[in-house]
Amino acid sequence: MTICGGQGERRVSKDLHDPTGYTAHKSGSDPCSRRGVFARRERYTTVTDFDAVLFDLDGTLCRRTQDTEALYARAFERADEGPFGGPAELWAALMGPPDHDDIVGYYGAGFARVAAQHGRSDSDPLVLAQELIAVIDHSAVALLPGAGEALDAAASIGPIGVVTNGPADDQQSKLDAVGIADRFEVVVCAAELPRSKPHALPFERALDELDVAPARTLYVGNSLAYDVAGAQNAGLAAAWLRDDGEPGAYEPEYVLESLADLPTILRGGQ
Ligand SMILES: [Mg+2]
Repeated sequence: MTICGGQGERRVSKDLHDPTGYTAHKSGSDPCSRRGVFARRERYTTVTDFDAVLFDLDGTLCRRTQDTEALYARAFERADEGPFGGPAELWAALMGPPDHDDIVGYYGAGFARVAAQHGRSDSDPLVLAQELIAVIDHSAVALLPGAGEALDAAASIGPIGVVTNGPADDQQSKLDAVGIADRFEVVVCAAELPRSKPHALPFERALDELDVAPARTLYVGNSLAYDVAGAQNAGLAAAWLRDDGEPGAYEPEYVLESLADLPTILRGGQ
């Protein structure tokens, strides 16, 4: 397994409460460190359109189990601030993906916007951000329904990997916590790279590591804007794990209602 990048500060992902909605249909047609690379080749038995499968992590294979309302309230207690707003308002006030080089500033900007909406210019948004980050436990995660079957089916056709935008230390904690860290032949943590999803770079790193062709690789992810767009930009087919929404302008090659649908797709079913 490969984790791209070094040991940075602990950082958090925006997706604290990953969507878990969930039978399948075909909808249409920094340099990477090579430390810790272990060659592992299995016997692959299933005939399929794909030679390899890559997965997103947050909201696809696992979700957080901490109560976000409680985390939000705890941040205010630790900051000794009177409460205002709530996590839904904070998520709505966060603009764009997490800035892993300044995660306190990223969440701080969100708290600053929520504070303004509540007339709370007396609060310190950066302290609130720091305290929120401090109470997030990256090992408090659980596998999503069907994840075990999906990984087994994917591993039966070829090498499997993870391409995630999160930082290496946080993502390693999650993989360890749900007991799947040793299942992957490559893990690319794009927060450690010059470009993240939806750019092609993190996918290209994983394909290079596995020595597989993009056109023979399937990517499974829950985000249209990051996973489907990124995979297709890199030449991979995309299987979108649906939340409550519709794909809109995006055209994922497959739509999954649950990860339990992946084995059918890998067998060439619809
Ligand atoms: Mg995700």
